[in-house]
Amino acid sequence: MKKIDIHCHVVAFPEYSTKRLDGNKYLSAEEQIEIHNKLDVDMGVLLPITTQEAHWATISNDAVAYVANKYPDRFVWFCSVDPRQGKHNAKSDLGYIINQYKEMGARGVGELGSQLYADDPMMQNLFRYCEELDMPVLIHVAPQHGDTYGIIDDLGLPRLEKMLRKFPDLKIIGHSQAFWSEISADNTNEIRGGAPTGKVKEGRIAYLMREYGNLHCDLSAGSGKNAMMRDPEYAAKFITEFSDRIYYGTDVCSAKQTFQYEFDDFLTRMVNDGMINQDAYNKVVRLNALRLLGITEN
Ligand SMILES: [Zn+2]
Repeated sequence: MKKIDIHCHVVAFPEYSTKRLDGNKYLSAEEQIEIHNKLDVDMGVLLPITTQEAHWATISNDAVAYVANKYPDRFVWFCSVDPRQGKHNAKSDLGYIINQYKEMGARGVGELGSQLYADDPMMQNLFRYCEELDMPVLIHVAPQHGDTYGIIDDLGLPRLEKMLRKFPDLKIIGHSQAFWSEISADNTNEIRGGAPTGKVKEGRIAYLMREYGNLHCDLSAGSGKNAMMRDPEYAAKFITEFSDRIYYGTDVCSAKQTFQYEFDDFLTRMVNDGMINQDAYNKVVRLNALRLLGITEN
């Protein structure tokens, strides 16, 4: 079964894009497609990066819409909306801008990277509009203010829980180190922004997934890979129980990265060795994304 990548960043015009903090540029559409071909991915969700926090390079909404229209059989896109946009208050009519992107073809919002608390009134304003307009939101959770990007939450993700409860019809897709480190109950403030290792003692993510049907998980990046590979037995349990709300993803940010192949091999081994069943695997790598994106295939 071909896969769908829930988390991609590409620039439309590499010759005019700046380098990221790590000195590399984001992928071009063609570089991304080449990586996707190696992974047996036939569609990627393009996520703009419009937030300025901790980024030298950004990716505009126009750029991802342009690339998705150029390669309509390979990409769809989410729009990025900053909760501070419009009037920089909690009453800004963010529906004005979200609706325009929706009409242009955007299928969700994200990734959200603004350094505001997850329950900041402006963030709640954005969530309310996304819920109303049926736009799923992909979030990058940050462990603190400053020296990083992402919406801020405390250890245990209490603010995210508040939002899941307050906006029950909003699909929130969790991502990042500060999100995935909560897979284990032994998470601490010291390690939550990194890649904690070792056996998982069931933590807050499983609790939140059970309690809130509107929480979804993005397996992309080093963070998703680490959360699964640190304890394959727990990963199998986790994927099996929550197979309807987990998405395969890469989040490859430069052509030099290779972690995505390691993770892809890991998932393939899981299904080949019978640790997860074919049905769960199919949902995670493709079927859940089709449903989220509103794509019907025969
Ligand atoms: Zn990303």
